[in-house]
Amino acid sequence: MTSHFDAIVIGAGQAGPPLAARLSDAGMKVAIIERKHFGGTCVNTGCIPTKTLVASAYAAHLARRAAEYGVEIGKQVRVDMKRVKARKDEIAGRSREGVESWMRGLANGKVYHGHARFESAHTVRVNDDLLEADKIFINVGARAFVPPMPGLEKIRYLTNSSMMDVDFLPEHLIIVGGSYIGLEFGQMYRRFGAKVTIVEKLARLIAREDEDVSATIQEILEGEGVELQLNAECMTARQAGERIIVGLDCGEESREVEGSHLLIAVGRVPNTGDLGLDKAGVETDKAGYIRVDDQLRTNVPGIWAVGECNGKGAFTHTSYNDYEIVAANLFDHDRRKVSDRIMAYGLFTDPPLGRAGMTAAQVKASGRKALVATRPMARVARAVEKGETQGFMKVIVDAESKEILGAAVLGVSGDEVIHVLLDVMYAKAPYTTVSRAMHIHPTVSELLPTLLQELEPLA
Ligand SMILES: Cc1cc2nc3c(=O)[nH]c(=O)nc-3n(C[C@H](O)[C@H](O)[C@H](O)COP(=O)(O)OP(=O)(O)OC[C@H]3O[C@@H](n4cnc5c(N)ncnc54)[C@H](O)[C@@H]3O)c2cc1C
Repeated sequence: MTSHFDAIVIGAGQAGPPLAARLSDAGMKVAIIERKHFGGTCVNTGCIPTKTLVASAYAAHLARRAAEYGVEIGKQVRVDMKRVKARKDEIAGRSREGVESWMRGLANGKVYHGHARFESAHTVRVNDDLLEADKIFINVGARAFVPPMPGLEKIRYLTNSSMMDVDFLPEHLIIVGGSYIGLEFGQMYRRFGAKVTIVEKLARLIAREDEDVSATIQEILEGEGVELQLNAECMTARQAGERIIVGLDCGEESREVEGSHLLIAVGRVPNTGDLGLDKAGVETDKAGYIRVDDQLRTNVPGIWAVGECNGKGAFTHTSYNDYEIVAANLFDHDRRKVSDRIMAYGLFTDPPLGRAGMTAAQVKASGRKALVATRPMARVARAVEKGETQGFMKVIVDAESKEILGAAVLGVSGDEVIHVLLDVMYAKAPYTTVSRAMHIHPTVSELLPTLLQELEPLA
């Protein structure tokens, strides 16, 4: 028997639930299909759990530094990994339950638990149920990419998902991947007390960022005792008893790292291979991301793709913004589009990196005339007072329009401070809006006006 709906939402990640709620509120009969945990990656194996772990790691780090602030703790700082995990589970669990009960409580919604697969452009099978709707929204997200690394298939390794079950301290955690996910895990496990080696095939960490950002993050991590192996162009993995050995070069040289556990953090792959997209005629690119237009419509009328599976953003806020764009177009006669958004994201190491817009390298490649200003956090009073002076802030401005093109705030509160600049970028206001503003003392943001009074040509 086929059940008819006005809309079907596949995947309860970051865009699917608000979309389902909006559809239901509009009086539409909506089916919500989730195969695993409500809330998807962010809630269960991504942002929320990792940021609770980062918070525990920060507490341990600050406790070890207590004497610098004149605080006596006495005994050696010890991290109870079971309690760290329990705190993480509690916070992520509350969020998951919140999403699930929200979906189950929708006036016009019906929740299906199971794997959804298209049977045609308007029908989707989940377990024994066949559902039909004119409007279908795909929000299936992505999972950890496991690279074709010789030997990996024969050994036990961790991903961001299985890391969530770890309630012990690995003796030596080897992390393959020196980008956002690998760096957050690397610093936190080092702070928990593990030996950590990060292996990266490129010559520097988070190579998408400017070199000064990569270099400063490298200095911060190495300063805490995280070992780095860069230029590991050809990696292999093998098990030797209880130990795991990662080979870094396949040529003459034979660098190796030996550890107790291995985390693979080298990128993401969209969950689109097992959706029956061919039956619906929905096109993907070579990497499996669903092709969408500026309003997130696929090539098949009546089917949209939102969130990480469309390749337009790999963050919770980009997924949620996708929901807002689709809802605005469907319900509000507001033709919002993806190309209106300015890319922004954070790296939640300590100190964090807040990023908005273009890097200096991208600005240079674009050939525009630009101005840049940089200030070390050591010259920010609030950072000095807090005893957290690592990092710097940098802003790049268009020399002609005076608009802010991009910014990086790597330093204490950098993940918050960046929004001052981001909102001015959205307003398309000149940088003088900030440089002439009076900010509150003593804050990190207080130095943004000063920074913007020190612009020089971008060399
Ligand atoms: C370790 C880690 C840390 C991160 N930290 C941050 C951060 O700090 N900030 C940030 O912005 N982003 C962060 N991210 C990225 C963020 O988690 C994702 O970009 C975001 O969750 C993507 O949301 P989504 O809505 O696209 O899909 P998801 O949240 O992945 O949800 C997709 C849902 O679809 C379900 N599903 C898949 N296939 C099917 C199917 N066939 N049938 C039914 N259901 C299906 C899945 O079970 C899942 O629940 C992090 C990611 C990781 C891995």
